[in-house]
Amino acid sequence: MDYQRILDEIEQEVRPFTSQGRVADYIPALARVPADKFGMAVETVEGETFSVGDAAEAFSIQSISKVFTLTMALQFEGDALWTRVGREPSGNPFNSLVQLEYESGIPRNPFINAGALVLADVVLTHTANAKASVLDFVRALCARSDAGYDLDVARSERDWGDRNAALAHFLKSFGNLHNDVDAVLDAYVHQCSLVMNCLDLAKAFQYLAHGGVNPLTGQRLMTPSQTKRTNALMLTCGVYDAAGDFAYRVGLPGKSGVGGGIAAVMPGHWCVAVWSPGLNAQGNSLAGTQALELFTTKTGISIF
Ligand code: GLN
Repeated sequence: MDYQRILDEIEQEVRPFTSQGRVADYIPALARVPADKFGMAVETVEGETFSVGDAAEAFSIQSISKVFTLTMALQFEGDALWTRVGREPSGNPFNSLVQLEYESGIPRNPFINAGALVLADVVLTHTANAKASVLDFVRALCARSDAGYDLDVARSERDWGDRNAALAHFLKSFGNLHNDVDAVLDAYVHQCSLVMNCLDLAKAFQYLAHGGVNPLTGQRLMTPSQTKRTNALMLTCGVYDAAGDFAYRVGLPGKSGVGGGIAAVMPGHWCVAVWSPGLNAQGNSLAGTQALELFTTKTGISIF
């Protein structure tokens, strides 16, 4: 398969659409990112990499980080996690408040913000320093000891994060946050502010294509069954209320972030990451989704 040629073609076809999306502006520090960026990287399970455009330029991974904290939370709590978080698509925006009231403080899934706040709470409970632990976890996945937090983005989100603060207090009122609300929000905005590029992400997701083993270290992070289930959750919940459309068009488990990144997995084959900051109405990268649709169409490879 000539992955490089396919990526080159996709860049040509998708570039004109980068201007159609809308850069997230509810976190002011993200609004400053130029909308015309486009990068894409593929890393095969054999470790070969291919990339195009701005694939080496770092960006704010935002909700893609929720996959990493889900993995950590499963390591700490195993199936007991599912007493505090559901596993169904929400069909609602990622920062919706209403469902949490109807469902008595149990977030629908780990990838909507309410669910990810519970994951952050679990990580806080089990680690002496949650921010350092998440950083260590991610650095081991992408072999980048310089991977770090963007403190401006974290501060900006904390200053403008009234919805997430509302969700956290709401969770606390139902007894579903065990730590101090401010500590949970602080851990959450920092994990969202993680800065990585497409090449880093295509590498960091490799354990999800390798049955739960980090191929760089040989360390098992999850059982094969937990890995299958994490991929299933990405397919059904990873891009929020666009999960049906994404499965229909792309056909891969994937996780998006409002920084414009999407990372996706073809178990046993490769991981792919794309970045284009302009978002569609559901808060997923518009050109990024298109690029992934073209990738599975041109390669003829998807989980379906
Ligand atoms: N930090 C963002 C928020 O909480 C993450 C949302 C996202 O990337 N979808 O709103």
